[in-house]
Amino acid sequence: MTNIDHWSSSIDLDYRYTAGVAGETFLRKIAKGRIMASRCSYCRLTYLPPRLYCEKCLRKIDTWVQVRGKGELYSYTMTGRGKKKSLYGLVKFAGIEGGLVGRIVGSDLADLKFGMPVRVDLKNSEKGLLVYLHV
Ligand SMILES: [Zn+2]
Repeated sequence: MTNIDHWSSSIDLDYRYTAGVAGETFLRKIAKGRIMASRCSYCRLTYLPPRLYCEKCLRKIDTWVQVRGKGELYSYTMTGRGKKKSLYGLVKFAGIEGGLVGRIVGSDLADLKFGMPVRVDLKNSEKGLLVYLHV
């Protein structure tokens, strides 16, 4: 008997993604190289990805702040097999709820540690926006 541990295939899907008001602003800004978060002016919580309504007080959020500087590697994982392995991580920023997911480049799995500083690099390509994390 042969054990099958995976197979390759594809499914054609036709769909339209709607990002919503906060998501559209976030995507338009990030495509220009700026990471924007939304901040509740009542309870001072800052959200990334941005929210239109505060999850704590439920008030509408209309303040945007640019996320600057390095974040920290909160979590990471490896995908793929053989030579097609890739590393992905979740980076969080001080004082901000949530975070940003991107591909970790220039490092091996053994180099990664939770909480290590991460620099985010945004690149536009034919495939869309790519988020690279440099540790
Ligand atoms: Zn609030």
